[in-house]
Parts: sequence; C-alpha cells; structure tokens
Amino acid sequence: LSGVTERPRLAKIFYFRTVKRGTATVIKNTGKDYLLSELPVWEPFPAVIRGKMRLKGLHTTNPVAVGDIVEYELEEFPAAITKVLPRKNYIIRKSVNLSRECHIIAANLDRACLVVTLDFPETKWPFIDRFLVTCEAYKIPVTIILNKTDLYGEEFDSLRQYFLQVYRGAGYDVRETSVWKNEGIDQLREFIRSSGLTLFSGVSGVGKSSLLKAIDPSLEPKISEISLSTLQGRHTTTFYEIYPITGGGYIIDTPGIRGFGLIDLKPEEISPYFPEMLRVMDGCRYKPCTHTHEPHCAVKDAVDSGEISPERYNSYLGMLEEETKYRQSE
Ligand code: GDP
Ligand code: ZN
Repeated sequence: LSGVTERPRLAKIFYFRTVKRGTATVIKNTGKDYLLSELPVWEPFPAVIRGKMRLKGLHTTNPVAVGDIVEYELEEFPAAITKVLPRKNYIIRKSVNLSRECHIIAANLDRACLVVTLDFPETKWPFIDRFLVTCEAYKIPVTIILNKTDLYGEEFDSLRQYFLQVYRGAGYDVRETSVWKNEGIDQLREFIRSSGLTLFSGVSGVGKSSLLKAIDPSLEPKISEISLSTLQGRHTTTFYEIYPITGGGYIIDTPGIRGFGLIDLKPEEISPYFPEMLRVMDGCRYKPCTHTHEPHCAVKDAVDSGEISPERYNSYLGMLEEETKYRQSE
C-alpha cells in the first residue's frame, strides 16, 4: 500500500442555498444588464433587475441608473438588484418619444466639471450658463475648467481675465489648464481624486479626452472607445459608465451633453439658480420678480452697477424666454 494514499472518506455534505446580500454601486448599464461594484472596491460583477421595480412618482424608462447605490442578492451570477437606495441627486433626459417618461442619465454625483475654451472652439457663454443653472437645479456642485490657456496670448488676455472675473465673481470654482503646457493638470488630478464621483462634460473639441488622459493615462483606451461610439452616430444609444481614477475618485464621461437640458423650471425658478442674482433678489420690490420690466428691481440695479455681468443677465433672459415659450406651447 505504500505510495498509495488512501482516499479520504467523503463527508456527508448538506447543500444549502446560500444567498449573499450586499450593497453596491451601479457602474455600468447597457439596456437590461448592469455591472455593480462595492465601491471603493473595484470588482465589477453582473446584475439584473429582478421583477418589476418602479420608483414612486418618477416615470423613468430606467428604474436603475449609473451611480445608483443598490441592494442586491447573489446566489449565482448575475446578481439580482432588489432595491435602489434614495438618491442624493440625479440628472435626467426627457425621452425622445412623446410620452412623459424620462431617462435617468446618472445618480449620486458629487461634482460636475465643465470643460470650456475661449477659442478653438469658442464655448458660447449662454451654453455655459445653461449648464451651470442645470447643475444648480440638480444640486450638483460644479467646477469650470478653462482649458487651452496656452492659446490665449495677448489677444485673449483681457477676455480671459474678464471670464475669470465673471464666473469667479458669480461664485464658481474656475480652474485653468493647458494639456499642451502641462499646466494645472497635477492640481486637477488631485481635485478629481478627492471629489468622489465627477461628471465630466464639455462640447466636442475643448480637450475633454486630452485632459482625462493627462489625469490618468490608464483611461485612454476606454475614452477612445467612447468617442468611437459617438462617431458611429445617432443610432447607437449612449450608455454612461463609471471609470475609476488611479489613486482615487471616479468619473462619468459624457460624450456630448445634448441630453443635459433644463427640465421643467418655472420662469420664476430660474433666477435663484444664478448665484449672483440670488444674492441680491431679496431687494426686488415685487415678488416674484422676473427682473425684466418690474420697477425697483435689485437684479437690474446690480446689472447697471456692473455687479452682475450683462452676459450672464442676457443668458438669464434667454432662458426665461425659452421656458415661457415652452410653457405656452404645452
Ligand atoms: P474633446 O473633443 O473635448 O475630447 O477634445 P480632444 O481631447 O479630442 O481635443 C481636441 C483638440 O484640442 C485636439 O487636437 C487636442 O490636441 C487639442 N487640445 C487639447 N488640450 C489642449 C490644450 O491644452 N491646448 C491646446 N492648444 N490644444 C489642446
Ligand atoms: Zn427683480
């Protein structure tokens, strides 16, 4: 018998159906399939929704979105999402069809970063203001990243100073970067690492992908994949996805932000989302005041005195007009 090991006697095994329960963050959503990870641990696993999960009061095409914190049960893969925990915030897009349903783009954002440029391409200020108002409405702290500063020589110097004055004066965090000169990149990287979940936005060409690659080179292949899917055109549904940043923090890259529009703001709700208007509007004689034709309007006075910039005030008027038109067409 030497050399032959005796077979161990098989223990009597009772099989229990063991179900693991846990809480995780949705990091990707493609149609009915989800990827979850128990952040800050990055170990993605597949999940699906079990049964029908409807959220009270919200008519959404997707009951679970990227950034949602969910409870799940796991017996075998895919795990079953059983509950969505209350959201701190979320951004939505109205569905293209005429139903009143909307689509949740992402939830539980800690910050939004809007990349802008003064030239090549010029980011239009009303677009910036609309984005900022939307962030205020969604209760998402927002940072403006003024990129391509290497391009703003003497010719642009006064515009650059004015831009900083207007947006910092309004109360916004504005950071300057140049990917080409590697300026402001280290600071931005530290900022993103410590910001939790950041939504990264900007119109095409401002250097959004270049910035992300500079912040974390390991993002490069993932980012080019996104740009490719945008190029493939309108037919591809865009699925948002959370990426971990080496060293901490997460980003959601939004290829284009067509969907990031204003949602159902009443005309009188717009001005409080301009922080510099909110600061003075208590002094308006009429309440609510649209800050257009009313006498003794503290906002108009602040525009006259230069405390509120005419550009921001014009953006406000534009948004007011659009919302009013939209309401009349209902
Ligand atoms: P995206 O469409 O916002 O993702 O922009 P890209 O990252 O693709 O950049 C668009 C163009 O701007 C590319 O040619 C980049 O090389 C260029 N670019 C990006 N950052 C800078 C910068 O800081 N300075 C200059 N001069 N060009 C930049
Ligand atoms: Zn007023």
